[in-house]
Amino acid sequence: MKANYHTHTVRCKHAVGTEREYIEAAIENGFKVLGFSDHVPQPYTNGFVSGIRMDMSEVPDYFDTLTKLREEYKDRIKIYIGFEVECYEGYFETLMEELKKYPVDYMILGQHHVPREEDGTYVGFKTDSEDVLKLYADTAIKAMKTGKFKYLAHPDLINFTGSDEIYQKHMRRIVEASIEQDFPLEVNVYGFADRRQYPCDRFFSMASEMGAKFLIGGDAHTPKLLKQPEDIPGFTEFLKRNGIKYGDNFIEGLE
Ligand SMILES: [Zn+2]
Ligand SMILES: [Zn+2]
Repeated sequence: MKANYHTHTVRCKHAVGTEREYIEAAIENGFKVLGFSDHVPQPYTNGFVSGIRMDMSEVPDYFDTLTKLREEYKDRIKIYIGFEVECYEGYFETLMEELKKYPVDYMILGQHHVPREEDGTYVGFKTDSEDVLKLYADTAIKAMKTGKFKYLAHPDLINFTGSDEIYQKHMRRIVEASIEQDFPLEVNVYGFADRRQYPCDRFFSMASEMGAKFLIGGDAHTPKLLKQPEDIPGFTEFLKRNGIKYGDNFIEGLE
């Protein structure tokens, strides 16, 4: 594949490596397009400080650094500058306004908490609550319909331990909405390589049967994750058994 649009930087406080190292790793591993989509800063006004994202004051440096590198590397790889964004209750409109100040190339949706970060639930923790699952699905669907996002990152981040019937009921709604909106669902390389609960067969076999569209996203928090699928042990088998085909892995308009 030629493109990866899910790449972090150290500003999010849980990634390693310089921007240059990510770019060099992408070039070495055959990528022609590299999109940075670090965790967006959320416009908190209540003093809450997130431990998993840059501060609003770091945004200018994020763009400056990457814009310079984009120019330096333009003959070898195409670089896009974006964000991985959550739709958090009470913050989304303000955030969209705030981001208008910057030349944001694209945004991907990665809903890590519901309904928001400071007092909500991290959806990657185990939960058997249908309310949390339902809220996750409702939030993802609503966000997809805003038209702001290019794809849904780790759609199956939600770690639901209740019945499979309830899981399928709500997760099918996400897949249906993604098909309606022609919105790709991400197969997350980081989760796979780190043996997390996602990407999981129960979600991707269903999504694939329903006819969803997919993109592979490195979710690179280290340059080492910028690899081709065949260089990630077990990954092509995962894709194959879930009927997921990949080609260039381009987002339309960001080739
Ligand atoms: Zn992260
Ligand atoms: Zn990410």
